[in-house]
Amino acid sequence: MEVLYHSTRSDAEAVSASTAILKGLAEDGGLFVPDHIPALDRSLRELSQMSYQEVAYEVMKLYLTDFTQEELKSCIRKAYDEKFDTSQIAPLAWAQGAYYLELFHGATIAFKDMALSILPHLMTVSAKKNAVKNEIVILTATSGDTGKAALAGFADVEGTKIIVFYPKNGVSPIQEKQMVTQKGKNTYVVGIHGNFDDAQSGVKAIFSDRQFAREAAGMGYQFSSANSINIGRLVPQVVYYVYAYAKLLGEGKIAEGETINVTVPTGNFGNILAAFYAKNMGLPIGKLICASNENKVLYDFFSTGSYDRNRPFVLTTSPSMDILVSSNLERLIYWIAGNDTHKDAELMQALNKEGRYGLTEGMRAQLGDFYGNYAREEEVAGTIRSLYEECGYVIDPHTAVAATVYRKYVEETGDGRVTVIASTASPFKFTRSVMEAIDPKVASLGDFELADELSRIANVKVPRAIEEIRNAKVVHDTVCEKDEMKQVVRAILAGDKMR
Ligand SMILES: *Cc1c(COP(=O)(O)O)cnc(C)c1O
Repeated sequence: MEVLYHSTRSDAEAVSASTAILKGLAEDGGLFVPDHIPALDRSLRELSQMSYQEVAYEVMKLYLTDFTQEELKSCIRKAYDEKFDTSQIAPLAWAQGAYYLELFHGATIAFKDMALSILPHLMTVSAKKNAVKNEIVILTATSGDTGKAALAGFADVEGTKIIVFYPKNGVSPIQEKQMVTQKGKNTYVVGIHGNFDDAQSGVKAIFSDRQFAREAAGMGYQFSSANSINIGRLVPQVVYYVYAYAKLLGEGKIAEGETINVTVPTGNFGNILAAFYAKNMGLPIGKLICASNENKVLYDFFSTGSYDRNRPFVLTTSPSMDILVSSNLERLIYWIAGNDTHKDAELMQALNKEGRYGLTEGMRAQLGDFYGNYAREEEVAGTIRSLYEECGYVIDPHTAVAATVYRKYVEETGDGRVTVIASTASPFKFTRSVMEAIDPKVASLGDFELADELSRIANVKVPRAIEEIRNAKVVHDTVCEKDEMKQVVRAILAGDKMR
């Protein structure tokens, strides 16, 4: 059955998957949502015999219904290839009573690669299908990981340019180095004096600026988004939950129909929303455990029923989760409002104006699938250390937030079901925080020496992504104020035309 996409804020447009991918955000500022969640049409037993790429096809075909089989399979083939350092793409590792679903085996060693290695291909196919003549300009705000993964995905992809904005002092040194050394004649990286939310609001403002869109069109460009609000990112993320379950089933770790819990270190709410969609497709998931760091807006949301971004922004060792406005939560809000676009629009307007909104009792009652909690910085470090000392397994701070919250969940509920923890970054991406947690003596070492030290103690080779930037040249050094983002985009587009 065909799936169409419309905005969370109005039923006005219903567009095909390819159009939704091209647009990123709906005209009214809402997020595209599928008009229904399709059910898995293969049994989990069948899926358990399939490769990652095959499972990807079986899941994605249900959402991207205007893609032909050939188009979709070719996107999948180009995305999940030897850029990943394991043919399993997303392997599971068992440690201290949970399965870690390692989503960091792609080009930039963070889970964003899972979706961003396929998005450029989905987008170029979508452009062809819709006879788009303009060059596509990807605008992205990043809290660290999206930026590099999007740059790597779009670099030198014909018919596209990519401009990434990141908080100048809000990403790890390795994350920054990864971005500012990015090659590709269509790539632009800009630091802003502000935090991630400022970068994200700036990008959103450009997207909703019709006048600027016309101006860009006059130069032969149209904007699109690689942020996690794009449905072309959400759909590929559903895949690995299905794959993980099928894997566990195939290996006899769980029985047919057994429910498992999923724990997700959460920032923009994209990853956990994908798990929620997977559950609603029929995947036997019990609790969705939403783990926050000290920016615990989501924990407060789940425990009080009100969302309130009015609070200090905390810089933590898990920067990709340092977020006060979780954009993808809007898709859940729409869902628990019973697909009521007016209600959704009203709450989002309140969020925009007052920085807060409250759920109705009826909406709150539908959050039963979720459990929220958060981890303090010292708990995160403690989790990294104890996991290493007990199992020799090293996790990054984002994953450690999830592992900490999972432990709290079990202590509170006694729920002993099999659990998959989304492991969202390689510890090599956050070597300083990881090594400081394990062995504070090494704190004086440089970033790359720390990577070598981590390699030694964890007995894991330094990933290619780190080796590549060790001696790479900085090629991007633009920095701007948070209210100058539009001018920077204009200058980039104009400059390119003159060359
Ligand atoms: C982006 C990111 C997250 C948060 O994922 P969301 O989908 O934004 O909730 C967690 N961990 C890492 C390492 C990330 O890069």
